[in-house]
Amino acid sequence: MSAIVGNLKVGSSYLEEQAKTYINDEIVDVERISKSGGWGENYCGQYAKVGRCENGHQYIKVIFCNKEWCKNCREQAHNRRIARWLPKALTMQSFGYFIFTIPLEMREFYKDKKQLSRLRSYLRRRLKQIYPDIKALVRWHWFSEKNPCLYHPHLNLLVSCFEKLPKEKLERIKEDYKRALERFTGIKLNKKVDVYYHYYSPEGFKKEAKQKGRELTDEQAQELYQKVLWHKLRYITRATFIVYNRELAEKLKNYRNSVVWGRFPELPYEEVEKMAKQREVFSKVSQDVVMLENGYCPICGGKIRWLKGLYPGSLSFYGKEVGNGYFELPIKIRGSPRLPSKKQLDEIRHYRWLLKSQYWLEEWLEKELERKDIYD
Ligand SMILES: [Zn+2]
Ligand SMILES: [Zn+2]
Repeated sequence: MSAIVGNLKVGSSYLEEQAKTYINDEIVDVERISKSGGWGENYCGQYAKVGRCENGHQYIKVIFCNKEWCKNCREQAHNRRIARWLPKALTMQSFGYFIFTIPLEMREFYKDKKQLSRLRSYLRRRLKQIYPDIKALVRWHWFSEKNPCLYHPHLNLLVSCFEKLPKEKLERIKEDYKRALERFTGIKLNKKVDVYYHYYSPEGFKKEAKQKGRELTDEQAQELYQKVLWHKLRYITRATFIVYNRELAEKLKNYRNSVVWGRFPELPYEEVEKMAKQREVFSKVSQDVVMLENGYCPICGGKIRWLKGLYPGSLSFYGKEVGNGYFELPIKIRGSPRLPSKKQLDEIRHYRWLLKSQYWLEEWLEKELERKDIYD
């Protein structure tokens, strides 16, 4: 248990992975809604996990398909990604923002999970030479911002670092990146590669202001810095695969897009709470969602353990909404409803999903409520 909840990041993603695997094995052969117009998986929002803190507060986490083209969960999944990375991002006293773009002539080659991973690993090794203790939040954007149908993979990195990268070093990185691309793809490039880099720090903002004849206090510079950091975090976690493209979706299926490099400091919950509160005013991501996404109970700060079973998503009707698919569940439940087997699913495929899961849920809850140990 402690292995699961001991680490902020590992805790939540591990469970999410577990839930997904279960879903993939058991349920996903039901036809995909995406066939009819680019929605996500048809299990999106249909199931939930139940979690409980050591003091007995209970929560529901609705399971989303997290497909970027899914209209059902896109915004909520985005907010969850922000919430998950926020405590890490806010430990950065200054940061570098990199964008490594794949040149046009190589984009066909990079419709391939293995090759994308290989390139990402190369960049990690390369940047480690400059920052041996590198800590970074790393994510691909798949499509061009201007044209959501043009495949335009570029890797975004927020790198925790404490100094500005000298120009010569950046030029070396660009040259090496170009050579690596040529080596991996076997394609020669006769122009420069596109690498964007910018360094942000509170001191940097102060200097910039001074050049424009303005004076910033330390607090103002800090505030501005945090705003920019927040904005970048929101930007890199956004969905770019908005228009469903079956061929590419199949090729990138199960690719792990959001990754964390290095070990960020593990924060006590009071710190996470404080940081989340500071940012709450700027976003739809509430402090409570940040707490839950990082495995802490927003009521008491205790660690949350997510129970093994899957529950129907409609269980959330009985809860109080926290935000982004999280609910507080005031009734105590001990068991887990039996979800239909694959065979049963085949038989009832022509029934409407939600009605069906609602029916199972009510039947099960009724029995649960008869039990004596159900209330505090
Ligand atoms: Zn979805
Ligand atoms: Zn609690």
